[in-house]
Amino acid sequence: LRRGQADYLEGLNPEQRRAVETTEGPVLVLAGAGTGKTRVLTTRIAHLVATGRARPYDILAVTFTNKAAREMKARIGTLIGAEGEGMPWLGTFHAIGTKILRRHAELVGLKSDFTILGTDDQLRLMKQVILDQNVDEKRWPARALSHAIDGWKNRGLLPDQVPAGEAQAFAFGKGGALYTAYQARLATLNAVDFGDLLLLCLRLWRTHADILEGYQRRFRYILVDEYQDTNVAQYLWLRLLAQGHRNVACVGDDDQSIYGWRGAEVDNILRFEHDFPGAAVVRLERNYRSTGHILAAASGLIAKNESRLGKTLRTEDEPGERVTVSGAWDSEEEARQLAGEIETLHTKKHPLSEVAVLVRISAQMREIEDRFVQLGLPYRVIGGPRFYERAEIRDALAYLRITANSADDLAFERIVNTPKRGLGDATLQALHAHARAERVPLLLAARRMVETDELKPKVRSTLRAFVEAVGRWTKAVETMPHTELARTILEESGYTDMWQKDRSADAAGRLENLKEFVRSMEEFPDLAGFLEHVSLVMEATEAEGADKVSLMTLHAAKGLEFDTVFLPGWEDGLFPNQRALDESGRAGLEEERRLAHVGLTRARKRARLSFAVNRRIHGLWSSTIPSRFLDELPPGSVEVIEAPAHFSAGASRFDRNPAPFGSSYGTPGWQRAQANTGGGFGRDRAPGGRSGGPREIEGELVARSSGPASSFADGMRVF
Ligand code: ATP
Ligand code: MG
Repeated sequence: LRRGQADYLEGLNPEQRRAVETTEGPVLVLAGAGTGKTRVLTTRIAHLVATGRARPYDILAVTFTNKAAREMKARIGTLIGAEGEGMPWLGTFHAIGTKILRRHAELVGLKSDFTILGTDDQLRLMKQVILDQNVDEKRWPARALSHAIDGWKNRGLLPDQVPAGEAQAFAFGKGGALYTAYQARLATLNAVDFGDLLLLCLRLWRTHADILEGYQRRFRYILVDEYQDTNVAQYLWLRLLAQGHRNVACVGDDDQSIYGWRGAEVDNILRFEHDFPGAAVVRLERNYRSTGHILAAASGLIAKNESRLGKTLRTEDEPGERVTVSGAWDSEEEARQLAGEIETLHTKKHPLSEVAVLVRISAQMREIEDRFVQLGLPYRVIGGPRFYERAEIRDALAYLRITANSADDLAFERIVNTPKRGLGDATLQALHAHARAERVPLLLAARRMVETDELKPKVRSTLRAFVEAVGRWTKAVETMPHTELARTILEESGYTDMWQKDRSADAAGRLENLKEFVRSMEEFPDLAGFLEHVSLVMEATEAEGADKVSLMTLHAAKGLEFDTVFLPGWEDGLFPNQRALDESGRAGLEEERRLAHVGLTRARKRARLSFAVNRRIHGLWSSTIPSRFLDELPPGSVEVIEAPAHFSAGASRFDRNPAPFGSSYGTPGWQRAQANTGGGFGRDRAPGGRSGGPREIEGELVARSSGPASSFADGMRVF
């Protein structure tokens, strides 16, 4: 790679090349979907290393999702191969923030093994704080306060930095006090929430200039993907780090900014040129991903947005297939149609890994998943909760693994001192030394060591008790039903007890998970069968190449691409989503439109849109009207496949207008339809709608779209 022509540069167009080869100073690549922004970043890393400008160690690369981080790692791996010394620091803002905080935890009042609270735990903690502060939780629900605090954190504001007016506006003037109390509770629990991961870095750097300087010196080159979706805290974090060498390359697309609801600010793009004067700005205009019709549909749709920086996108690809639109009677039929089509594609040898189904909210997934399961179509949910990867579940698994296999050193290490038994690092080191010398597994080493006088008497007796317990459990594998054994182990080991005594916010949830864990074992004949299943499940979520349909929210799909993309649920109220419409008017609608644009631009060859005329939300059927976005697609690039047979319900514009999509009637169909039906999709909801159904749906979205919880948990593995 180092000799002669750099072949990784081959095939790049001149603008891409410029973005790669302008290594010194700030660079901003502002370009549309599929123009090779991410490819520019990966090639840039290869280039920096290949030309000797940097060692991988000197490079920091920030991606938006952990999946993207993994993919980028794989691509860089093939580009720089074994030649690279190690890998760059590569991960999401959250993952990198965690890595930094763990190194300096004590300087911000934490221990390095601090816990990261998920959304649920955060809420539980907030409830306690509200109670402690004598605030009426009915009037100031934990969720609302959490939202406010997250908002402050996204803006980089510590309790004492929140503008007085804003803090006053909450809980009868107690907003600031609640924020302070919440932070104090977190500190006593040795815990942080997602917002803290960056906020505490900022605090660390502001109070310890030497540490900041260390990182500034170290990261000679900084690269950021999906820059349009950074929030203020992330921006400040980045700006501090980049002030050192000022070699910072950001790539983004304002038309794909879809995290405004989480505090992302497109203005960061404009701010970049201000904060990094003299930045080289590169525009890429050729889309290498999608065929002509798909690109035309996506461009036509986004053109309806008013607040855009504006840019050109062209393809030299053929027009290809038109974007299809089909209607179904209800969401179940929609799922049936979609799964049937995937099956047909599959029989025609279309790889399932090249098929994605992108939904607006995670609640749409269940029916689709049910259908996949019925048909036996393999699929994976991306960004979904991973039960077996939770800490308490991994602990419980480790107990079972060491019981089933005495040579499982990783399992042994994980639980020998969990719960705390006084078998700390020193003991473990002694065990390791012994195990290495004798070439035996740790458990066996422990069994031998308790017969010697190498360990202090107290440690020795504790370790003996532990070793004997494991021995008992191992014997019981043959005689005791495995679920009972699991329950016994969790009790005898003191593990359940540890969580029962734990007074932190997340303890209750963990105990519930442990119960569910034991319950899930019932589906398997024995312990070995269960452990085998778990390892398969865990492997399956890891296996990148496996042939499965990908199912995820639109938010989680950013940066990805697939040959065929299904986009179900294009109905007003669902997509665009009612809450976005209610809460932020045109800005909300425009963000929804960008989301639609992101969805369409994921497709290389086929994009399939659909809607259902009836949809059940929280058990109540509502009739719906097709999404206004369908009307906005350029007719020439769209093909209407089928309308549902019974499509005459009168609530829809679909049958009222013979050419429903993109036709040139004066008042857009949706407005008329809404006038007639009193609000379309949302109209059957209970009175007081905003705090009822729709919010709950959106709540799920927050939890399960590529929201911080999932993307982060996932991100732990990036390092
Ligand atoms: P998004 O905005 O959706 O994240 P992007 O701008 O990051 O898109 P990439 O994912 O980097 O785009 O590239 C899109 C596709 O085009 C990829 O499959 C990539 O390999 C391909 N591609 C990019 N540049 C070229 C090129 N010069 N020649 C051939 N293919 C290219
Ligand atoms: Mg990209």
